[in-house]
Amino acid sequence: LLGADGSLGVTIFEEITNLAQQTGAINLGQGFPDEDGPASIKEAARAAIAAGANQYAPGKGTLELRTAIAAHQERFYGLLPDPETEIIVTTGATEAIAATLLALTGPGDEVLTFEPFYDSYGAVIGLSGAVHSTVPLLAPDFQPDLTALEAAFTERTKVVLINNPHNPTGAVFPREVLSRIVALAEKFDAVIVTDEVYEHLTFGPKHIPIATLPGAAERTLTISSAGKTFSFTGWKIGWLSGPAQLVAAVRTVKQFLSYSSGTPFQNAIAGGLGLGDDFYQGIAADLADKRDVLSNGLQKAGLKVLPSQGTYFVLADTAALGITDATALARRLPALIGVAAIPVPVFCHADGAERTKSLLRFAYCKKIPVLEEAAARLSTLQ
Ligand code: PMP
Ligand code: GLN
Repeated sequence: LLGADGSLGVTIFEEITNLAQQTGAINLGQGFPDEDGPASIKEAARAAIAAGANQYAPGKGTLELRTAIAAHQERFYGLLPDPETEIIVTTGATEAIAATLLALTGPGDEVLTFEPFYDSYGAVIGLSGAVHSTVPLLAPDFQPDLTALEAAFTERTKVVLINNPHNPTGAVFPREVLSRIVALAEKFDAVIVTDEVYEHLTFGPKHIPIATLPGAAERTLTISSAGKTFSFTGWKIGWLSGPAQLVAAVRTVKQFLSYSSGTPFQNAIAGGLGLGDDFYQGIAADLADKRDVLSNGLQKAGLKVLPSQGTYFVLADTAALGITDATALARRLPALIGVAAIPVPVFCHADGAERTKSLLRFAYCKKIPVLEEAAARLSTLQ
């Protein structure tokens, strides 16, 4: 996040993961699974390395992966992006977000996001020189007020950047909210950028890609990542799809950020995208159980749980324990009880930080006994 002096500090994920490692705490901070994804995908990467897929991939990604991404978009959403012109592979969703904002925005523009917002959004909007305006998502359901949403758009709104399913709140946005965003983007001629890295990780409400709504596709760039769907966050394979002209603009910037992305991982992920429905249903069902175990444990530990409908994360209010500064608590928690979590104010500007000052984000993408142990340790806070 940009500090008060405009500098970029160490990300909260690195800070809390370092604390967890130093203290040996259970790390429910940074969102990464504690079990690898499918063995068949790992084997495919190993085979690709052995077969010599070890030099630069094409800048826009291997044809095999771009074709698999197009097939995935058609299979799940009925979208038909052209693998040649409407898809690029990126070094994680993080690079797709950065290249998009740097390509499309600059000084004098406004980028609108919800708040809390994923930390890289604030940092990259700052790097681009644009102004970052926000619409609050309020507890307990973290859905935007549609009047406030409308009021936040201006003639300068160049990009509306949404994240659905939403990190850190676990909210999943319904059609009503998405169609209002499309209508406002049309009215103000803004580009919709949608970060859907948790597209397959919802537990109840089904994920609706905003690009599938009437009028949206021609102004929407959709970002996703293999990290979350396949539990390979360290491989950093992401992608972006949308209208050829917008994708070309992003690709121009990507050339100078990373040029291309990890060759042997690309075709392994291409195979992963083609896995059967049982894989996709299985990851969501498994994560739903983990969400329930952690949510129940947090509640028993005396925290107020704000229900999560998707992602890897659930928010809990520590005010129920008489704690008012979750940021200070998050820095002490690993040493105090051996659990690490992320304070929600880091995903906010000043007003939002005040509103969320007692909230912690916990990641539930961990083995069930690990979550149970973390809950037991948290219960000692009471
Ligand atoms: N967007 C959101 C909302 C995230 O939670 C994350 C973290 N995985 C990213 C983007 C970054 O994804 P990647 O690891 O693929 O760069
Ligand atoms: N997306 C992950 C999270 O929200 C962390 C990614 C990172 O460390 N930058 O926890």
